[in-house]
Amino acid sequence: VHLDYDESIIHKTILVGDSGVGKTSLLVQFDQGKFLSGSFSATVGIGFTNKVVNVDGAKVKLQIWDTAGQERFRSVTHAYYRDAHALLLLYDVTNKTSFDNIRAWLSEIHEYAQQDVVIMLLGNKADMQAERVVKREEGEKLARDFGIAFMETSAKTGLNVELAFMAVAKDLKSRK
Ligand code: GDP
Ligand code: MG
Repeated sequence: VHLDYDESIIHKTILVGDSGVGKTSLLVQFDQGKFLSGSFSATVGIGFTNKVVNVDGAKVKLQIWDTAGQERFRSVTHAYYRDAHALLLLYDVTNKTSFDNIRAWLSEIHEYAQQDVVIMLLGNKADMQAERVVKREEGEKLARDFGIAFMETSAKTGLNVELAFMAVAKDLKSRK
């Protein structure tokens, strides 16, 4: 029994990061277990998806929002971040700019999001080893510097996709 956890809570979870890093693909992989290569418009997202994650027998409800057409800095504003419980912040391991922009995303998050928001940094497209330009260690170091969790993922192969959302759900459950 989990008398200490309120299963009626719906945790607003937002995917953020530069356009093209794989936010929509990550959500589709988590939700449907499939990879739809290159079939998404950069400006048309899929809105949100409700998912229930089982954490130690408790049902943790996530309402996961896919950011689309709002990726330019300052346009994902206060209103959007305000009631977020968790943020998955993505960069693309084959795109240095998307990694360099993480610091700007984090400063925006710290400006607009709640103090206790759960943040997970994800280095996506980890399947593209030949094209990789951001080392795993660089992602780890950045996450350490900011005191946030980190994983490398692949929306294509599914690597760590469930694990990433599971880790976020675990964190949300322990913070309530
Ligand atoms: P978004 O703009 O952040 O939502 O990115 P998308 O999900 O639309 O993905 C952008 C492009 O990268 C698409 O062509 C995807 O098929 C591709 N992509 C996304 N994630 C991965 C991944 O993990 N591995 C590979 N190889 N391609 C990916
Ligand atoms: Mg998208």
